[in-house]
Amino acid sequence: MNDPLDILDVDALLTDDERDVRDLVRRVADERVRPHVAGWYERGSMPVRELAAEFGKLGLLGMHLTGYGCAGASAVAYGLACTELEAADSGVRSLVSVQGSLAMYAIWRYGSAEQKDRWLPGMAAGELLGCFGLTEPDHGSDPATMATRARRDGDGWVLTGGKMWITNAPVADVAVIWARGDEGVLGFAVPTDTPGFSAREVTGKMSLRASATGEITLDEVRLPDAARLPEALGLKAPLSCLTEARFGIIWGALGAARDCLSVARDYALSREQFGRPIAGFQLTQAKLADMVVELQKGQLLAFHLGRRKDAGQLRPEQVSFGKLNNVREAIAIARQCRTILGANGISAEYPVMRHANNLESVLTYEGTSEIHQLVLGQKLTGLDAFGG
Ligand SMILES: Cc1cc2nc3c(=O)[nH]c(=O)nc-3n(C[C@H](O)[C@H](O)[C@H](O)COP(=O)(O)OP(=O)(O)OC[C@H]3O[C@@H](n4cnc5c(N)ncnc54)[C@H](O)[C@@H]3O)c2cc1C
Repeated sequence: MNDPLDILDVDALLTDDERDVRDLVRRVADERVRPHVAGWYERGSMPVRELAAEFGKLGLLGMHLTGYGCAGASAVAYGLACTELEAADSGVRSLVSVQGSLAMYAIWRYGSAEQKDRWLPGMAAGELLGCFGLTEPDHGSDPATMATRARRDGDGWVLTGGKMWITNAPVADVAVIWARGDEGVLGFAVPTDTPGFSAREVTGKMSLRASATGEITLDEVRLPDAARLPEALGLKAPLSCLTEARFGIIWGALGAARDCLSVARDYALSREQFGRPIAGFQLTQAKLADMVVELQKGQLLAFHLGRRKDAGQLRPEQVSFGKLNNVREAIAIARQCRTILGANGISAEYPVMRHANNLESVLTYEGTSEIHQLVLGQKLTGLDAFGG
């Protein structure tokens, strides 16, 4: 199949297995998500459990983890799955990212054997849902200043505080909660039916509407010591989970961009003004050309970082590089495609404005562009500019 958006033959860099994963996830996204997602977006709700169960059957949850029913796929295969899911909608990819790369990864990497046995198989199957609570109402980019506290209580712990903007929180069975104890930042796998734990849905979102986002309140939540993630001590634990999830975003954002570009190209070929298809105007072609250049540069970058990850050599600043570039370019592509569709560009009949709006969240979560610029700036200069 000759893909007009693959001028560089990036497809040729994939193995047959990787191509199979991509094709499978593309088909599932096309059949199960694409026909319904505009409605979910408009209503601000989606069948999270149903989708999770289906994604679980396909091995997409915790896909790159090993054991406990996880697929043990390569990083590149996982990235390709993220691309195809986000080509349908960023909210659907967020569901998979948060489940696999944040909640499951945290338990898989920092949990006890009992915690892994208790949560991971059900989460991999999509029968149990997880969320990851780091951000707070007053502490976003600077989680080191978090106000949520973990206090020792006999053999156990008491959590007090709150988390904000937590994907999957309203539907989760287990919440990975990060809190400050006397020893530093600690992580807990909190069953969401624990007394004192509550999650309310964040409403009024203009972005990522096909995604359940919640505000968590922790009102003297009493937990046994067995709920604490024993290997997690210090902020580097949640930050390492974010590095995992950012990797998926590097690939996912390009799915949204690719979908916009594909729609805009088709539209430009069929829409006539001044007696000819608008695709025949030089200014439209300049837009399309610039966009395919950025899309494919982003794909090559994602692919390079994926191969580094599979070789066990990916560094956090390289992930920052990828997230900064690919999300920034994806949102620029979505906005530019919007112009090509004219008035139809703002209609829910086309996915372009939905993708553009979704990418506003993707630009902000998992470290804003500014934070990733600061990571790279520090690497380049040796100077920490986070404080000003
Ligand atoms: C839809 C959605 C889902 C989310 N899901 C989750 C989730 O599942 N779990 C979770 O823990 N969090 C989640 N988040 C939260 C997200 O990670 C935070 O919004 C993000 O870290 C930014 O924090 P903030 O919104 O408080 O912005 P702030 O930190 O207040 O930043 C505001 C602005 O100031 C800039 N800024 C901040 N510090 C600096 C600096 N030192 N130098 C220059 N500029 C700076 C930022 O770049 C930004 O432009 C989600 C957010 C959204 C929108």
